[in-house]
Amino acid sequence: MASKRNYHAGRGKTIKVVCASCNGPTQHDIVYSVTDEDGDDNVQWWGYYQVLECRGCERISFRYNWQSSEDLEPSENGAWEAVDHETLYPSRIAGAAPMADSHLLPPQLRRIYEETHSALSANLPVIAGIGVRAIVETLCAEKKAKGGDLKQKIDDLVKQGVITPAGGEILHSLRLMGNEAAHEVKPQKPEDLLLAMRVVEHALQGVYILPRQAEHLPSGRTVQP
Ligand SMILES: [Zn+2]
Repeated sequence: MASKRNYHAGRGKTIKVVCASCNGPTQHDIVYSVTDEDGDDNVQWWGYYQVLECRGCERISFRYNWQSSEDLEPSENGAWEAVDHETLYPSRIAGAAPMADSHLLPPQLRRIYEETHSALSANLPVIAGIGVRAIVETLCAEKKAKGGDLKQKIDDLVKQGVITPAGGEILHSLRLMGNEAAHEVKPQKPEDLLLAMRVVEHALQGVYILPRQAEHLPSGRTVQP
């Protein structure tokens, strides 16, 4: 049986999904929607392809959702409802908006930061964990940290004054997180990965982004009259 399409289903309605810019769930207008239905006498399937616009920041994105007659769950009023299988493009999760001004990072760091952020947003926890460690390794290489292994290199970053001793302790825990991801294929908990990303972002901002942003400030400590 050929699939049946409706090119305006849901158009004009709103839906609450995570917005990457607003960094959390917001109401979105469904500005365009195509529904694709298929199935036979026993099983039905619906796909929804929707262009969304955030009501907060007006960012445009895309939502794909599918449901089937074989995948139901009881709703609050006891009736059976089709389960959503939602994918948003570009992928995003609440609380993981990308760091501002990442274009000011050195090219290699920028690349590994952006790839790791994409893995985190796409719910790829093993790859994101490996990426966090790779950011720490790239930071050490970029700052020419000395040492035979990553542990010694992080200690050298502290010695150089690139990061504080407290920052060094945190980088050591991220190093261990990356070890588990790479060698044991162990996915980290999403909340731990989010925290790890905040920590590396904080380090990158302190080492690269804030100094660049501060370049236009007046130098010296002269107090203006
Ligand atoms: Zn928004």
